Amino acid sequence: MHTLPPTKTAAVLFGISLCVFPVRAQASVNPSQPCLPYSDPVVAANLMDFPTPWTIASILPNDAEAMAAWESIAPGVPNISTKGTPDGNFTDFTPTYPSIDPDCWWTYKTCSTPKLPGLPPDIDSIPESRALGFGFDDGPNCSHDAFYDYLLENNQKASMFYIGSNCMDWPDQCRRGVTDGHHISVHTWSHRYMTALPNENAFAELWYARKVIKLITGYTPMYWRPPFGDIDDRIRYIAFHLNMSAIGWSFDSEDWKVASGQATEQDVENNYNSLIQMALNKTFESRGTIMLFHELNNGTMTNAMNFYTKLKDAFIGNLVPVASAENATHPYQETNLSYPNYAQYIQSHPFSGSDNSSTSGGNGGTGGAIGMPAVSGLVGALAVTAMFLDGLARVIT
Ligand SMILES: [Zn+2]
Repeated sequence: MHTLPPTKTAAVLFGISLCVFPVRAQASVNPSQPCLPYSDPVVAANLMDFPTPWTIASILPNDAEAMAAWESIAPGVPNISTKGTPDGNFTDFTPTYPSIDPDCWWTYKTCSTPKLPGLPPDIDSIPESRALGFGFDDGPNCSHDAFYDYLLENNQKASMFYIGSNCMDWPDQCRRGVTDGHHISVHTWSHRYMTALPNENAFAELWYARKVIKLITGYTPMYWRPPFGDIDDRIRYIAFHLNMSAIGWSFDSEDWKVASGQATEQDVENNYNSLIQMALNKTFESRGTIMLFHELNNGTMTNAMNFYTKLKDAFIGNLVPVASAENATHPYQETNLSYPNYAQYIQSHPFSGSDNSSTSGGNGGTGGAIGMPAVSGLVGALAVTAMFLDGLARVIT
């Protein structure tokens, strides 16, 4: 039975944003100690080119580039009405919405294959056997460095779904996501329910989040994830014509619900364990899956670290960024960064755990033909850099 999402506002979930940035703070490695936004010369020099962080984005009055892009998309946007409110209150809307779900509204019945012709399905599972599309929503944040250190030490890459306003607030951590070799995707500008937004605002939420990631990291993501999974064919159309693919999920860890009391720690542990058991039971032999995880707060990051080894064992090491799972070797518009495809990722991240249930061998023991050895800390960072330089060289030659 479907349950509509809560009405909690994104602003409460994702904290504050200050118009006047304080002096740059040291990044905190204490995940229970959130940091304040800090001043960054690149962001400061371009503040006027972006909406106010955490406000619903709209096209800025003098932004000719954004307006031209929007005007090229606008005439074709399907005539689908907005739904509910930007903070996710659909109680006035759902009674009037046809139960056949004409808009393929994910929030209503988890529809992920569009009914509007010409749109690709959302990515809510992955084509590789016994694999998990590994990713985290709602970063970056300057108190999350310990979590990123953990991933680096474990030679683990993930898809990171970054909120544009967070990148404005914590640009160093936005840069780190790319430097660490993660697959950076867009998670909108202000983290609202997208189906509630008028066309132009929905466009601007994607446009400016993508733009700030490009400004800060040099790369323009071609993947995005709708906050709360809230997407329909109208939003799909706008994103598709921005050349952005939507990544959803098939399972929800519910880690994001704990802070607001909508789920307990035990619920989250049960969800992790359920996925692990399904993997051990070979549920994902023909096709891999995606579970929703967050880097949102200390609790969600602690969950991720506590379950990491068990999860990796259950999926025989096949925890991969969604870009690699999709064999998307260029997940950014810029082609000077080459991302490993699935086979390359698996080969360069050899699994050393135990596989007690595999009969087909999985990837255990694969050698590092292309290999990035299992390394940690600074050496790991250098290895990642080497991988990118290798990618650059391959593109150039
Ligand atoms: Zn989110």
